[in-house]
Parts: sequence; C-alpha cells; structure tokens
Amino acid sequence: MDYEFRVIVEKVSVTSQKVVERDTIKIYDIKPPDSILDLGLRHEEQISLLSKVQSHLLAEQSKLIDPGYDACPKCGQKISKNGFKESKFHAVFSDHKLRIQQHCCKNPECNWNSGPTTTSVFGTDIHPDLAKLQCEQGALHSYRDAASNLEKMNAQRRSINNHDRVKHLTNQVGERLSQENQEPPGEEELLVPAQELIVQVDGGHIPTKEKDKRSFEALAGIIYRPTCIELVDQHHRRITDKSCVISAKDDELQTIKTYLYNAALRQGLCKETRITALADGASNCWSVILALGPHCHSLELILDWFHIAKKFQNIKNALGENFSESLEKAKWSLWHRNVDESLQKLTLIRDNITDEQKRSKLKGLQDYLENNRDYLINYDEREKANKPFTSQVAESHIDSIINARHKRKQKMQWTREGAHNVLQIRALMASDEWEEKWLEYVMPSLEKTA
Ligand SMILES: [Zn+2]
Repeated sequence: MDYEFRVIVEKVSVTSQKVVERDTIKIYDIKPPDSILDLGLRHEEQISLLSKVQSHLLAEQSKLIDPGYDACPKCGQKISKNGFKESKFHAVFSDHKLRIQQHCCKNPECNWNSGPTTTSVFGTDIHPDLAKLQCEQGALHSYRDAASNLEKMNAQRRSINNHDRVKHLTNQVGERLSQENQEPPGEEELLVPAQELIVQVDGGHIPTKEKDKRSFEALAGIIYRPTCIELVDQHHRRITDKSCVISAKDDELQTIKTYLYNAALRQGLCKETRITALADGASNCWSVILALGPHCHSLELILDWFHIAKKFQNIKNALGENFSESLEKAKWSLWHRNVDESLQKLTLIRDNITDEQKRSKLKGLQDYLENNRDYLINYDEREKANKPFTSQVAESHIDSIINARHKRKQKMQWTREGAHNVLQIRALMASDEWEEKWLEYVMPSLEKTA
C-alpha cells in the first residue's frame, strides 16, 4: 500500500485565501478492491463521513448564532457573554450538538441567564428536511414501518425517528392541511376559469378502533380539466394536473363537500363551467357531487362505466363460463342505454339459476342499476363523441389514496381523526403538490411541537 486517502476540512479566509484551520476527519486505505463491496464507501460509512463533515460546519456556524439579546429582557440592564451552552440539533442523517453563545445579566440582583437552545433560537431543533422525510414515511406506511424505513435509510437507529415522533408530526401536518383545505383559494392564487371540469367521487373503507364497528367510510374526490388527460400509450392515460381531496370525517358530508368545492375553485370552477361527474352509484357520492350544482353552469351525473364493468365482471366470475355470453349481452344493452332490455336479460339469467347466492348477486346488480337509472347514459355514443364516461384513470388514484395506507395492513386500526389527517398528506401527494408545498405545512408544525 503506497498511499492513503485523507478527507480534510479547511477553514479558509475568503479575502487572503489563507487556511486558518485544517482538520483531517478521516483516512481511508487505498487498496485494490477485492469485490464490488470494496468500491467506494459503504452505506454506513457514507452517513458517518457526512456526519463528521456536518459537525465541523456546525461548529463554525454555531459560533455565529446570534440569540438576539441586546439587553437583559428581565430588568433591561446590560448583559455579558457567559460561555457556551450545548444544545441538540437533528440533521437529516445525523444528530449533533451545537454550542450556542450564552448571556447573563450584569445586574447581580437579577440573575437572568439566556440559556439558549436550538429551539429557543430557531423554533425547532429538527431540520425541516428530516421532518419532510418523516412525514412522507408516515403518510405512506404504518408508523412502525415508517420508523423502521427511516432507520434503514439512515443506517442507524435514532430516537428522533421513533414511531411516536413520526406519528405526532405526521398528524400535526395532516391537521394543518385539513384546516387549510377548508379555505377557498386565496386571491394570490392565479385561477384560470374552466369551461369544463370532470369530477369523480368515490368511497373506501378504513378499518377502525371505534367500538362495535369494523370500518368507517372515507370519501375521495378528484377534479381536473378534460384537457389535462394525457395519453401515455394505447391503454394508459394520466392526468397532468388534478386536485384530490379526501375526508374521513363523520359530519354528514360537510367536510368533503367543502373540500371538493374549494378544489373545484382551484381547478377554475365558475358560473360558466360545465361539470361532468362520475361516481360509483353510492348515494353519498351523488350528494357530494350535487353540492357543486349551484356553483356551475351545468352538472351532468354519470354512473361510472368503470364500476358497472367491474360489477359485471364480478358476477361473471361467480356464475362461470356458461353465463358469460348472456351477461355480455345484458352489458351490451346497458352500453347502449337500453336499460329495461338489460334488466330483462338479467332476469332471464336469474330464472335459469337455482343457487340462491348467485341469484342474489344478480339481484344486487339489478338493484344497483335500478337505483342509478337516472345516471345511466348511452355510453356507446359518449365514447364515440370522445366524452368522459369512465374513471379508469383516476380510479386508481382514489383507490391508492385510501388503500395503500389504510387497508393493506389489516392490523392497523384507525380513529377517524387520525385517518383523516394522514389522508390529507396523501391527497396533497396525489395532487402532485406535496413537493411544492411541504415546507409551508411542516415548518409551523415543527414549531408547534417544539
Ligand atoms: Zn437582568
């Protein structure tokens, strides 16, 4: 081994370029790598090196922290420097101690001492970038998984990343968002009036801790301009700009109605807007959508073809191949808005079946169509006219907002409020606004928890 590799930090005078301080923070051997593992630095070593560099930088910065005292805040007399006080600081990947200048009052009877901390100076001792990671993990995974993921990313366990802290912060940020969503867009938001909007409302069930209940319902709405549908390939579309809202509150739909209206305003809702609304047929979904009625030019309600097709598929699976052709025929009639014909075809199938369970499944489909008769349209014409009639694209979004976090782990049990808050972050992520807005919500939540 002829050489070694030194990582050195230097403090240099900007004007003279003279090195004032110089520290070797790490020396690595330079030797031929035996395997790919030896190439560069291992995960843990990278974090450790970063932490050492940070410590040196923080030591320099700490000296310059001005806690902001000119005179004694207690008695108004002069103050003098009184050494340094150590205080915690949690950076993204490492924990540090800052040494902050301490002051005391010169008046011997006053006895005031500044006792500065990172929190007293900055409002928090957690770097917002760490808080962002915690929120993202907390919004996408169970709190225990979030803590464990953070530990893995960080190649070490840190008490700052424990699941209670992740839970607390995620909840705070979600609560802040929940309040914000109650507000209509501010005047500073540039709103372009929309001639047309598409809105979809859908529900999902979340397992609960509430007594005597297995789950409660959350409703999600998504709203966008038809011009924002982009063809990815022959089978896939995506929505380039959309607003997603969600509520798990048990308040007779008040919250979701307000959220959806405010989201619609952000997407350009005005008196001239024609809204096409797609829903799965549940009555609460329709009533959420109908609340937009007074604010737009027209509101067209359509039973989402995606859900119809899904229901037919479920029955097909239950009934088996023998009935698949007749079911297709019933579906075909429905596609062309021959509702009675379709219902008759379904009755005919039912008459040929003795199994009670299968019969009741068919009856269920018939009731569903009957209940939503007013919202059935000529889907065939609609498709040919290139107008929206199915939520296939965004359906996956609504599903993923609720399900990824709340359904996957059956052992997770939620309170409505806890679920509601965490879902606000997911909705902001689904609206593609998290990256742009996170600091606005994370920062005040950090200061509040400090
Ligand atoms: Zn004093």
